[in-house]
Amino acid sequence: MRQPSADNHPIIVWFRNDLRLHDHAPLTEALRRSDTVALVYCIDPRQFRMLTIGAPKTGAFRSRFLLESLEALREACRERGGELIVRLGEPEQVLPALAVSIGARALYVHAEVAPEEAAVERAVFAALQLVDCHGSTFPGQSLVHPDDLPFAVAALPDTFSQYRSLVERAAAIRAPLEPPQGLPRPEIAPGALPSLAQLGLADPPSDARETYRFRGGESAALQRVREWVWEADRLRTYKSTRNGLLRVDDSSRLSPYLALGCLSARVVHANVRRYEQARVRNADTEWLIFELRWRDYFRLVAQKWGARLFAPGGLHNVPYPWRGLDDVGAREDFAAWTTGRTGFPLVDAAMRELAATGYTSNRARQNVASFLTRVLGLDWRLGAAWFESQLVDYDVASNWGNWAYVAGVGNDARGFRFFNVLKQARQYDPNDDYTRHWITEPPAEYPAPMIDLIAAADRSAETYGRATAQRAPRSAPPTRR
Ligand code: FAD
Repeated sequence: MRQPSADNHPIIVWFRNDLRLHDHAPLTEALRRSDTVALVYCIDPRQFRMLTIGAPKTGAFRSRFLLESLEALREACRERGGELIVRLGEPEQVLPALAVSIGARALYVHAEVAPEEAAVERAVFAALQLVDCHGSTFPGQSLVHPDDLPFAVAALPDTFSQYRSLVERAAAIRAPLEPPQGLPRPEIAPGALPSLAQLGLADPPSDARETYRFRGGESAALQRVREWVWEADRLRTYKSTRNGLLRVDDSSRLSPYLALGCLSARVVHANVRRYEQARVRNADTEWLIFELRWRDYFRLVAQKWGARLFAPGGLHNVPYPWRGLDDVGAREDFAAWTTGRTGFPLVDAAMRELAATGYTSNRARQNVASFLTRVLGLDWRLGAAWFESQLVDYDVASNWGNWAYVAGVGNDARGFRFFNVLKQARQYDPNDDYTRHWITEPPAEYPAPMIDLIAAADRSAETYGRATAQRAPRSAPPTRR
């Protein structure tokens, strides 16, 4: 029920990576305080710029998913009598102008944790102040509410297992907020959604080998939860199937929905607990929560370490001599990796799947990331940027955190770890089903291995050993804000 505050000024709710109506704290709070609430999404052209690796920051798969999610959010708003206002432009330009035009005195938004996203938020808040409008952030994208953490972010443990045992003991997971029943409809032109072409992108390629087509939007997200958890009953065996490479239901495939916020992690948690009551509670059901805790952990890593997460030496300044794209050989090696022509079938299948669909499994991601950094010795940030462009489920903290971790420059950077892609293929793809699915050319056309795997990994282990011995004494995170 609405309880407008005494002044009852219009409030803007700024949607970012939270394209849903359920479990939406800024929206819930705005509706409690005002009769006039404007729901706004800004399509920021900077998100579609070319990266130095020659690919757009947001590639075609994620862009299509974003547009579908916006379309779905608009429909859901209209069903409740409201409207989603969409503008193409930089939020720090668009939002103050909108605030002036509707007389808004407050803007509510979910907090972002990574530096680029937080900088846009600061720029928006500063510009709003000039027009007498006050910006406020709300937490709400993680499983554990930040207020429930038993430590300050600056004291985040360096290993996931320490983190996990602390939060499991001390932090209960809150119930998700209900979606609003009705929404107000301010008199503002809604604005048309752009096409991919207007964003400078071609349609994503369509490929008959694609096993799953992610469709954007909150109701598609909730449907995937219903199908995978309840109808297909796949949560029951998740822990033992989650490393599968080919079959769609081996893992939840909820990542794009969680990354863009079409789905709140707490809704997944609530479903798991309901499933445990109704059907079975086992190691598999618990494992999905375990993975969502990794997601939370990487968000906290990004928050604690800020710009350090994006530096070549990572969190602890490991001075590893990464190969950059300034030499021809490195450029050729990077191209072989991105196009899936390394001569290592597991790597090539995964990279081709990624290019053809915007997705590849966690096991595949670990292998290709390890190959790029540990075998080819290429700068891990090239791989992270390539994933940023290609992934339908790109999430700044999970992507850069996982990459830094695999490259040995992230949290818990102890010792040289390396995925032997030949062994991994024997273990996780014993009948070559996955590699045969994605590598379809005749053997004579398939490239020979581009490098001696073990010799390269040995060299890299030695270099890594020297680099970690030289690194600066364990450094504190930079002070931020
Ligand atoms: P499930 O196994 O069903 O897991 C359920 C959910 O838990 C996922 O949807 C995801 O939100 C979370 N999760 C699972 N594994 C991880 C993990 N290792 N780290 C953080 N969260 C996790 N995940 C992203 O969401 N966005 C990224 O940009 C991303 N980049 C990655 C880059 C590399 C190099 C690696 C190794 C992993 C990356 N991951 C990323 C994590 C993981 O690969 C995907 O979340 C997972 O494959 C998505 O498929 P799923 O939803 O079926 O996963």
